[in-house]
Amino acid sequence: MQGSNDDQWGLDTLAIRAGHKRTFEQEHAEPIFPTSSFVYESAAEAARKFGGKEAGNIYSRFTNPTVHVFERRLAALEGGERCVATSSGMAAILSTALALLSQGDEIVASRSLFGSTVSLFDKYLGKFGITTRYVELSNLAAWEAAMTPQTKLMFAETPSNPLSEIADIAALSKLAKAHGAYLAIDNCFLTPALQKPLELGADLVIHSATKYIDGQGRAIGGAIVGKHDVLEELFGVVRTCGPCLSPFNAWIFTKGLETLSLRMKAHCANALELARWLEAHPGVAKVHYSGLESHPQHALAKVQQKGFGAVLGFEVVGGQENAWRVIDATRLMSITGNLGDVKTTITHPATTTHGRLSDAQREAAGIAPGLIRVAVGLEETDDLKRDLARGLDPLVN
Ligand SMILES: *Cc1c(COP(=O)(O)O)cnc(C)c1O
Repeated sequence: MQGSNDDQWGLDTLAIRAGHKRTFEQEHAEPIFPTSSFVYESAAEAARKFGGKEAGNIYSRFTNPTVHVFERRLAALEGGERCVATSSGMAAILSTALALLSQGDEIVASRSLFGSTVSLFDKYLGKFGITTRYVELSNLAAWEAAMTPQTKLMFAETPSNPLSEIADIAALSKLAKAHGAYLAIDNCFLTPALQKPLELGADLVIHSATKYIDGQGRAIGGAIVGKHDVLEELFGVVRTCGPCLSPFNAWIFTKGLETLSLRMKAHCANALELARWLEAHPGVAKVHYSGLESHPQHALAKVQQKGFGAVLGFEVVGGQENAWRVIDATRLMSITGNLGDVKTTITHPATTTHGRLSDAQREAAGIAPGLIRVAVGLEETDDLKRDLARGLDPLVN
C-alpha cells in the first residue's frame, strides 16, 4: 500500500517511519539488499511470480526491497499513490516521456528549465517526432496560447533556477485538465518538505534525488510520484528499459528523507538571511529570491510554498568581469554547478549552465552577464557573508 497513510501521520513522522517493513531479522534501521535476483521455493512459485499472479521480488531492475522502501516513503511524503525510482533525475524525465508520449505529441514547458531537460526534449525526443514549445514560467496566458490538441504533457520547474520565478501550479493544473494533458512538476528545488504539487492538482512530481533528498552530494538518483495508473506505465518503462535505481543509492536517499524537513528549514533560513544581506550590499544590483518582499511573486510563493528554497541569484554591478571576481575571491563556497548540498555552491550561469545559449536566448531567459547563482548550504551564514564580501566590497570601494 504505497503512499497510504491511514493513521494520518504528519510529514516529519512519515519522513522517518513510512515505507519500511521490518524483515524477520528485526532490524531497526532500513536494510540494504544488494542482490540482483531473488529465489523461489518451487518452480510453481517462480511461475506465479513471473506471471504476475503473486506479488514478490523477482529481479532488482524492477523489484528491490531497498528501492521499494525509498519509493513508498517518497510517495507518502508527496501524498502520491505510488512512486517509481530511477537511476537519475534525467532518467525520471526520460521515463516519463517514454511512458506518456508518442510520435506527433507535443510538450509545453517552461523556458527556464534545467539545461539537460531542454536537451532531452529538443535533441532526443525531437528525433522521434515529439516537439516542445517553451513559455515564460509565470505567464499563464502564454501557457494557454501554446496548448494545441496535440499537447500531452505540460512540464515546469517551480521555483525556477536561478531566477526564482514561480508558476501557479493550481492554475496550470486547471489548464492541463481542460486540454486533457498531464501536468508534471519538477519539485527538485523545494521537495515535499516545502511544496506538494499533487495537492495543487499536478499529475506527476519529478525528482532529482541527487539534490536535497540526498542532501550531502553523494549519489545520483531520481523518482516520479503520482497516481497508480500513470505510475504503472512508468513502472513498465523502468522495468523494461532499465534506468533503475541501485539499492545502495536508494538507501542513501531513504536516510536523506529522514532529515529532509529539518535540513530544508535550515537551508531556507540561511538563504533568506543571505538574500537580505545581498539586497542591502551596494555591490549588488539585484537579488532574485522568492522569499524577498521585492520579488514580483512573493505573495504566490507564500501561499503555494512552505518555504522559499535555498537557490538564489544575484546580479553584481558591472557585469561578467565583476561576477567572476566575486566568485574567484571566495575561499569557502565551492565553485560547482551542483546544488542541494550542505556545502554552499557558487556558479556563473551565463558561462556555465547557460553557456551554450546565444546572447539573445540568454537575455530572453533573464541570465545577465553579472548574474551569480548561490545554492545556500548549511555553513554559518556569517562565514558565507564574509566569503562573498571578499569580492563584493572591493567593487564599491
Ligand atoms: C539536477 C536536476 C535534474 C537532473 O537530475 P540528475 O539527477 O542530475 O539526473 C533535473 N531537474 C532539476 C531541476 C535539476 O536540478
